[in-house]
Order: sequence, then structure tokens, then C-alpha cells
Amino acid sequence: MLDIHTHILTVWGRKPFTEKDLLGRMDLLGIEKSVLLPLGDSPETNFFRFGTEDAVRVYRRHPDRIIPFCCVDPRAGGNSPETDFLPLLNYYREKGCKGFGELTANLPVDDPLCINLYRQCGEAGMPVLFHLYRKIGGFYGLVDSPGLPGLEKVLGLCPETIFIGHAMVFWDEISYDTGTARKTEYPAGPVKLPGRIQSLMEKYPNLYGDLSAGSGYNAITRDPEYGYDFLNTYRDRLLLGTDLCHQEPDIPGKIVDYFRRSRESGRISETAYLKIVEDNARRILGI
Ligand SMILES: [Zn+2]
Repeated sequence: MLDIHTHILTVWGRKPFTEKDLLGRMDLLGIEKSVLLPLGDSPETNFFRFGTEDAVRVYRRHPDRIIPFCCVDPRAGGNSPETDFLPLLNYYREKGCKGFGELTANLPVDDPLCINLYRQCGEAGMPVLFHLYRKIGGFYGLVDSPGLPGLEKVLGLCPETIFIGHAMVFWDEISYDTGTARKTEYPAGPVKLPGRIQSLMEKYPNLYGDLSAGSGYNAITRDPEYGYDFLNTYRDRLLLGTDLCHQEPDIPGKIVDYFRRSRESGRISETAYLKIVEDNARRILGI
């Protein structure tokens, strides 16, 4: 199994989740390799910064277990939509980074600063993993409106860039019936009509979904039958992830159990299982 979404992390005032914790949890869950995402480059987060250099250091100690991503805030380098990020991205690529994220800047997803950065990530061959949020202020994450019009715009404007969607506001869009669902972060109940994630995946080959955290797990289990159908249908665009980043043992492990059980019971095909738990990630990261 390859996990697309993990962290080493200290939130202010809480017990840190360390390198040793991460590797220990990977062993327990039977995860062979994990993408380690920097966090804290954008000022909206409430973490002590764990930067690209930190991720690369962990990778050097555990090259067989850790795949580092790099990250930089879109406002860095002069707060300009013309900033040249490529020298930095190429430098990080040489250090072993295979992708970009977790992008947490609280800016419109189609802000010119972000579009400039996405394009250059595409040029550097780095998929962009982003956290999506619903408004400016109050938390972190790129911002889009219901129906994801901003994301659709950037998918079309940056065809060379692979986008990996994550978090509640992204996964909320698995169901078209989101008017009431949007009142809660973890919408429950049946997917009556397929949502924007599905239509965007059908229209744009550069959109992928990161199934990590409570948001990804909720999206595929809120309507169990639809969840299996979704995984089998979009098997080329989905990525197993846990969001390992804290001490509570149950939350990230649930999705790993879910995939093992669904494979054993035949609810998801062997092909879909292998693609989602490892092969898709290997393909888009070039490993
Ligand atoms: Zn994360």
C-alpha cells in the first residue's frame, strides 16, 4: 500500500506526531510507503512549520518508506502572479520530491498567484495536492464556491498539471444533492445524483481524489452501495490516503481496513483495489 497523505506535525499545545510515530503507525497498518507532506508554509495554518527541508531529511533517513513532497506558499517570492518558482521546484525535485503539497493557502483556488504556481508544478512534473475550504478566513485551504467553478477553471487552464483534491469541501461534491449537506462537514445519507467530482473527473483527465481523512472515508461510506460503485468506476483517479498526523489510532486506520474488507468481499474489484491503494500513485508520481 502507498499512502498519498501523511504528516509529521505539531499543533500548538498538543503532543507532537513524530517521525517515529509515523513509521510505527505505517507498520501497524501495513503501509509500505507514504507521501510525507510539508505543512505550515502558509500563514493560515496552526502548526509549527514542517517544511520541505524537514520532509527531505526524513526521506534521507528512510528512502524505502518515505516519498517527500515540497511546498511553498503561492504568495512567496514577491506576491506576484509572475514569480518564477521553477528553480525552487527543480531544486526540490533533485532532492527527491515527487509532488507538491499540501497546499493550504487560504486564497481563491483560481487566484492568479495560484494559477502561476500550478502551471509551474505541471512543468516540473509535480502533482498538486490541495486542501479545499469554503471561505476566506477562519481556517486554511484554497477556496471554491459550491459546484467547484474555480476548480473547473484551473483544470482547464492548467492541463499539464495533475490536481489531487482533499478535504470536506472537495468530497462534499460527490453528491449533487449538496444544498442541505453543506450545513455539515461530514454529510450523511445517500448519493441521490452523482456530483461535481464525477462530472469533473469525466471532463478533465488531470483531476484525482485523495481519499484520506474523515472527509474521504465519509464520502465513500455515507452511501455504502454507491461508494463501491464510485470506487470501481473512478478507479483510475482515486488514491488511498490516511492523513496520519495525530495520536488517535482509529481515524486514519479506518480506510485501510475498509479497503482490505472490500477487496476480500469482492465489493471492489481486484483491479480497482490495486490501482487505488498503490498503482495510480506510482503512475502520477513517476515511481
Ligand atoms: Zn493533511
